[in-house]
Amino acid sequence: MTYESYTGFSREELLEKVQSVMSEKRFKHVLGVEKAAIRLAELNGYDTEKAGLAGLLHDYAKELADEAFLELIDKYQLDPALKNWNNNVWHGMVGIYKIQEDLGVTDKDIIRSIEIHTVGSSQMTLLDKIVYVADYIEHNRNFPLVAEARVIAEQSLDKAVAFETVRTVEHLAHQALPIFPQTIETYNAFCKYLKED
Ligand code: GDP
Ligand code: FE
Ligand code: FE
Repeated sequence: MTYESYTGFSREELLEKVQSVMSEKRFKHVLGVEKAAIRLAELNGYDTEKAGLAGLLHDYAKELADEAFLELIDKYQLDPALKNWNNNVWHGMVGIYKIQEDLGVTDKDIIRSIEIHTVGSSQMTLLDKIVYVADYIEHNRNFPLVAEARVIAEQSLDKAVAFETVRTVEHLAHQALPIFPQTIETYNAFCKYLKED
């Protein structure tokens, strides 16, 4: 299946829509995630169209205003506790409703992978892992440990999910920032993969 069959829009049309709701820098990032997701799909025997599309759309809601997220939480009767978080958590967990409204995405696997692309889950499908890891290692990323993360991603997606989650938890704790409970669940489910040789 193609991007068009999942959304009703061609890739060109989707690029225009995605570009129109974000900065040039973030648009480059989502193109990088699309490419990295396709690569990881090839490596792991997953549908490249589905992975690429999820990568292209994963940060669609990133620049949506806080007010709009709070309205979506009410509109779709999501857990009110979500209101205590911020854009970092909302753009995935709540952003999927904006993506469905604007882009007509209905595929449950794609929607789920975008929903959890920031916080992960203790139960991740292959597509969920591909999007989560592609977001971290795409070629425009340049934080200190990205080279190591890229090497691990070529070896094992589970290990790459573990590496990324450990670093994210460390990074948040180091800054004394709150950690979303589902992020901790992801950490607990995946940390064992870093213990293996
Ligand atoms: P991006 O959207 O491409 O920048 O990447 P992500 O969606 O993966 O992450 C967005 C931001 O959320 C990053 O700054 C992460 O450090 C942060 N983040 C990830 N997990 C959590 C969490 O559990 N709690 C909080 N407060 N922030 C998180
Ligand atoms: Fe994101
Ligand atoms: Fe991203």
